Amino acid sequence: MAMMNSFKERLEKVKTRIRLTAEACGRDPCSVSLLAVSKYHPVEALREAMECGVTHFAENYVQEGASKSLELPGATFALSGPLQRNKVKPALQYFKELMTVDRPELASRLFRIAEEMNVSRDVWIQIDLWGELTKMGGCSPTGVQPILDALDAPGDSKRLSLKGFMAIPPFGMTSAFGEMANFREDWQQRLGRRLLLSMGMSDDLEEAIRAGSDQVRVGTALFGERY
Ligand SMILES: *Cc1c(COP(=O)(O)O)cnc(C)c1O
Repeated sequence: MAMMNSFKERLEKVKTRIRLTAEACGRDPCSVSLLAVSKYHPVEALREAMECGVTHFAENYVQEGASKSLELPGATFALSGPLQRNKVKPALQYFKELMTVDRPELASRLFRIAEEMNVSRDVWIQIDLWGELTKMGGCSPTGVQPILDALDAPGDSKRLSLKGFMAIPPFGMTSAFGEMANFREDWQQRLGRRLLLSMGMSDDLEEAIRAGSDQVRVGTALFGERY
């Protein structure tokens, strides 16, 4: 099925979905970015994507992203899966963006090791507003401030720069996107700065964009089924 089409065709389809949805709700289509989630797909699939101009990919496992990045010097990577403390160093080494910061201990460790390695990275705080419904990681609303404090540790504050919030809402729970939009709004007011929202995947990117998502993370609709 999907695998029989070229990446280029699938990319055009996804871009069209994003554009039509954005236009229909009065948003600038360029304000919604597309993050290509390449987990479990072979390096050749990423090469094909790179020929179509896609050079930034999200991976869920540090090891998998690291080995792909070594094979594809022209590509950059975001870590979209859980990050364990003992993987912080390779994560900072091979990933430009860390999207699953969800506890203060992890944030301070990232900060400390980024200092040691003398690197700067973009980070996202992963939010879970839904408690037991999800088992995908993410911090509760009260967990945000301690993470912000840890990210703002003394030293070079540009070391880890916060882009915004990432969420993986419970499957089929469409109200979740609106809840995340309100949550983001609250924090923007509190901090007096703009925060991006990364939410929406292959099956629900339209709902996410309508609710205000700035970035959709798409795997299956771009690369086909994962095996
Ligand atoms: C796999 C994954 C996606 C993409 O999911 P699809 O349904 O294949 O588009 C997005 N975000 C995260 C965190 C993922 O693990």
